[in-house]
Amino acid sequence: MVGAGSMNLSGIGMTSQRTRDRLIQRLYDQGITDHRVVDQIRSIPRHIFIDEALSHRAYEDTALPIGHGQTISQPFIVARMTEVLLASGPLERVLEVGTGSGYQTAVLAGLVGKVFTVERILPLQQKARQKLRLLKAFNVRFRHSDGGMGWSEEGPFDGIIVTAAPENIPEELIDQLAIGGRMVIPVGGREQGLYILTRTEAGVEKQFLEAVRFVPLLSGVIR
Ligand code: SAH
Repeated sequence: MVGAGSMNLSGIGMTSQRTRDRLIQRLYDQGITDHRVVDQIRSIPRHIFIDEALSHRAYEDTALPIGHGQTISQPFIVARMTEVLLASGPLERVLEVGTGSGYQTAVLAGLVGKVFTVERILPLQQKARQKLRLLKAFNVRFRHSDGGMGWSEEGPFDGIIVTAAPENIPEELIDQLAIGGRMVIPVGGREQGLYILTRTEAGVEKQFLEAVRFVPLLSGVIR
C-alpha cells in the first residue's frame, strides 16, 4: 500500500533507477559539469513531487504541471541554476523564491547550509513541506508570502534563487543579497533570459546565461 506517509522513495517501473540514470546522463550530455549537483539530483526521488497520474514521467527532462497553474521545473534547469549559484564557493544561507513542488528546494538543501524558501500559494507550500520532511531535509524553513519582497528578517543571503520570472529584478531581492552574494534569476515576459547577479562593494554585476521559460513571478498571496 502506498499512502501519503509511506510513499515509495526508491520508485518502481518508469521511476526505476535505470530511468533515473538515463536522466543523469542527459544532464552531463547537455553540459552540466558539477558532480555535486548531479549526485544530488541522482539521489532525490523526483516522482514524489509529482501527482501520481503523471509520476511515470518524473524522470523525463521536462517541466510538468503541479496544479494551480504552476509547474515543477525541468531537471536540466534545476541543475544549471544550482550549478551557477554554487560556482563561487560554499553557501551558508540561501533564499529560494517560488517553492512550488519543493523539488529545487530538496536539491539545494543537500548542497548549502540552510534554505529559506518562500511560496505565495499556500496549498503548494504545504505539500512541499510534507515532501521535504519525508526526505529528512531539516535545514529548510518555509514561508507563505510574496517572495518578490524577499525575506528581510532572515537576510542578507549569500545566495538567492528565483524560480518564477519577474519583468524586472525586484530591488528588495538585491538589497537582501550579501556583499559577494549571488542571485540566479529568470527575467522578462514572453522572452526571458536567465541571469546571474553578483553583489560587489561597488554595485551589482549582471551576466546573461541563456534563454529560458518560467511561469511569471506574481504579487500577492493565495490561501
Ligand atoms: N522550483 C519549483 C518551481 C515552481 S514554479 C519546482 O521545481 O517545483 C514557480 C513557483 O513560484 C510557483 O509555485 C509559483 O506559485 C511561485 N511564485 C510565483 N510568484 C511568486 C511570488 N511572488 N512569491 C513566491 N512564490 C511565487
